[in-house]
Amino acid sequence: MATPATSSRPPALTAAQAVALALLKHGHTQRTIQARTDVTPDVLYALAAAWDITAPCGTVEGHACHQVRDEDPCGPCATARGRADARELARKRKTLPAAVRRARFGNPRRRQAASR
Ligand SMILES: [Zn+2]
Repeated sequence: MATPATSSRPPALTAAQAVALALLKHGHTQRTIQARTDVTPDVLYALAAAWDITAPCGTVEGHACHQVRDEDPCGPCATARGRADARELARKRKTLPAAVRRARFGNPRRRQAASR
């Protein structure tokens, strides 16, 4: 029973999308991929799932590939994601005004004008 290999394939990719998937597969970051190809992350991961392409494990991109396939991330991907989240959080902590910070992250210690 000969089924043509093309029958189950998703629609053809644009040149930019094909490049984006190749970059993803070779471990480039989604930021680099978007900068080079104009393919946004949501499109990128949807295509990756459709074409059965995954980013290397142990990267944020690998984690996103697990997510788009409805899988639990593997250990290295979960670690990579956790690290990226922590970094992002640290960056936000530095740039957000104190009031926003309190609203978003809670205020663990109530400091009521004690020292002034
Ligand atoms: Zn993984």
